[in-house]
Amino acid sequence: MSAISDGLLAQLRGLLGGAVHGQNIAAGIRVRGISAQLGWLVDLDVDDAPLTVEIVPIAAARGHKVHTVRFALGYRTPTTVDSIRALAATRALARIVAEHESETDQPPISTTQRIRELTNDDDALVAVDGPLPYYALNPYIGCTIGCRFCYAQSRLQPLRLRTGASLTPWGSWVDARVDLPERLAAELASRPPRPIKFSPIVGDPYPAIERRHRITRRCLCAIALASPGWTAFVLTRSAAAADDLETMSQAGRIALGVSLPTIDDEVRAHFEPRAASIAERLELLAHARRRGVPTFAVVQPMLPGSPDALADALAQHTSLGVSLDVLRGEEQAGPLFDPPAYAAARATAWQAERVEDLRSRLQARGTPIWQDLPEASG
Ligand code: SF4
Repeated sequence: MSAISDGLLAQLRGLLGGAVHGQNIAAGIRVRGISAQLGWLVDLDVDDAPLTVEIVPIAAARGHKVHTVRFALGYRTPTTVDSIRALAATRALARIVAEHESETDQPPISTTQRIRELTNDDDALVAVDGPLPYYALNPYIGCTIGCRFCYAQSRLQPLRLRTGASLTPWGSWVDARVDLPERLAAELASRPPRPIKFSPIVGDPYPAIERRHRITRRCLCAIALASPGWTAFVLTRSAAAADDLETMSQAGRIALGVSLPTIDDEVRAHFEPRAASIAERLELLAHARRRGVPTFAVVQPMLPGSPDALADALAQHTSLGVSLDVLRGEEQAGPLFDPPAYAAARATAWQAERVEDLRSRLQARGTPIWQDLPEASG
């Protein structure tokens, strides 16, 4: 299989009519960068403060505040830009998109391949600004673990169509970014260090094909060889990360985390049938700690199961602590919440209460709780 380019960055450039990197699009509003890995994102400076605007095909609009004929735009929160200026910047961008959108019609379907090898010409590291700025790194886009609640799917499925691929169900496709390690190595030598988060939004770094391509492993090796200012955080629902504990351990500045939405493996099997069992995930963390690899966990979404037992496991197995987050919409998982044992968990109030309950249990155990990154990484 030869590698192909997904062309998404070129389409975004077309949509913006060349308004990229350093160009003013309105008074006090300048384009700082664009990327196409976490969705179509345009980084702006608005009166010298950073603002990120997402552009999605209109069919994927979910609370995006500004619409053109074919696309919807919305700015990311939290941001330090006030809401009136943020909306003005989003509208300024929408005017440019409206001018050019008829030139970027969706390409005809050219492939039904579910596993693709892709090359890209965009940055390997995607800068994400916030209280703790970091880079996102995505060895794979799409995911064959296929959790039905995964919020990546509504962002990625419409964009996948724009790469000329047929629409196949979430969980049945993945794009392997085969040239990523080489591009990463070059950027590690030239860009200012920030913590790197592996696959925070668009996939898992350990789909089954990682054992063939070893893209994640080769990226970890590049980080291990880079200057000591570079740190990384790898988050997975797969036990295959154990393959790379040697590399992580030798690097000394790569942390490993698992997603752990429940302690009950029956619940896990109901909601995440293709992901590693709870026992495998805890063993992975225990193994990592024995090797001296810092460990963390992300509890998202909240799923039923004993909160006390979950807090015990999180306290025991994480050295860097835990991040907590709620269900971000049911996506394709609606029927999974229908059985009486799971029905309460679909409610926003139940999710919020479980976060607070878990938070107090973790605090009582002295386990750090953080939002975007462990505090120690800032
Ligand atoms: S493992 Fe992560 S990226 Fe993959 S489907 Fe599940 S939640 Fe989404």
